[in-house]
Amino acid sequence: MYISCSSERKMVEIPREGEAIIAGYWSPQLDLCSHPVSLKWKDGKVNTLETLDSLESCAKISSLQWNSYFLLPGWIDVHVHLALDSLDFYQCLENWAQPSLIEDNIERYLQRYLEMGIVGIRDGGDLPGFSWMAKNKVREGVWSGPGIISVREAVNRAGMYGRFLGRGFIDFLDWRDKESGFFDQGLDQLKVIVTGLIRFDAFHKVGPTQWTVEELKGLVESAHERGKLVMAHASGEEGISVAIAAGVDSIEHGYYITTGQLELMKKKNIAWVPTVAPIGNILKYPSDRYSSLEIDTLKRILEGQLSRIYEAYCLDVRMGVGTDAGAYRVPHAEGFYDELDWMIQAGIPRLEVYRMATRENSQIVGKPDWGRLDIGTPMNQLQLVNGFR
Ligand SMILES: [Zn+2]
Repeated sequence: MYISCSSERKMVEIPREGEAIIAGYWSPQLDLCSHPVSLKWKDGKVNTLETLDSLESCAKISSLQWNSYFLLPGWIDVHVHLALDSLDFYQCLENWAQPSLIEDNIERYLQRYLEMGIVGIRDGGDLPGFSWMAKNKVREGVWSGPGIISVREAVNRAGMYGRFLGRGFIDFLDWRDKESGFFDQGLDQLKVIVTGLIRFDAFHKVGPTQWTVEELKGLVESAHERGKLVMAHASGEEGISVAIAAGVDSIEHGYYITTGQLELMKKKNIAWVPTVAPIGNILKYPSDRYSSLEIDTLKRILEGQLSRIYEAYCLDVRMGVGTDAGAYRVPHAEGFYDELDWMIQAGIPRLEVYRMATRENSQIVGKPDWGRLDIGTPMNQLQLVNGFR
């Protein structure tokens, strides 16, 4: 079996049973331990974690050279698009006509996720179903990769934003007509496109809202009746209000969210996945692609988003770490480390961000046994981190 050594971006082969001295560990379950620890595992699962008080005992048992590493739960990225390449959106959509090209890309991304300590991802969908295919290949052991929760195809209004994410329904009646067939295709969560995109050249402008509260409630209820969580792509005050009123489980992006909306989300236990990287990374890794008007707008959006994130943290709103990986300047796996940094830059203490990236993210993806380090956790769900502080 393998464990991720994320600080060196590699997978390390380990026996099913073994022991090592590590520099410490952190998890939402066990908290931080910064003393040398004797780690033993059996049948591929953590068996004991014992703090060592003397250096002699350190010297005697270690067969593996892990004494500079901390053991942590693997990360979860709750918003990615495996079918997008983070380089050129329009070229990538053209490449969808050559599935083998896309499949090769995805296989590489999945390996990189593991190497960088990301053991679970939630994919926000693509019309041809590449992410659903990837999910099944990993589940069947054909590909190695993180666990994948896939929405398969998103629900959007025909002629409005999201044509690459879903087939598009003419109206709510059209959805009702096709609803059972849609669920019968198979999906892990329901993704609904509630609004269009933000604009980089006009502050506060967002593409139109696609559903009324009543319609979106109908969509949410059909999903909940089938035991599926609902992730809602929504930005702008109007669309976010619709999503909250309809009782979705998570709001994705949520640019221009207000304090009042955060308070409502706290009350209704709705999670927010603020995806800072797609805007922040354009500023962090400059190119000549955007005009100075666009750069200025992006700066204002970023500043607002970071302040709302800190407010959400203070209000104790459920918040997840999701990147929108595949978007321009948000490479799969690497982008997750940018997103962690953005959350820290918003003012959230590092270990609180790590708790979001593990425990809260496991709730958002509906997999409470992911994002853990405890006795009994499979070693391949963990990561070794050098120089943890
Ligand atoms: Zn998305």
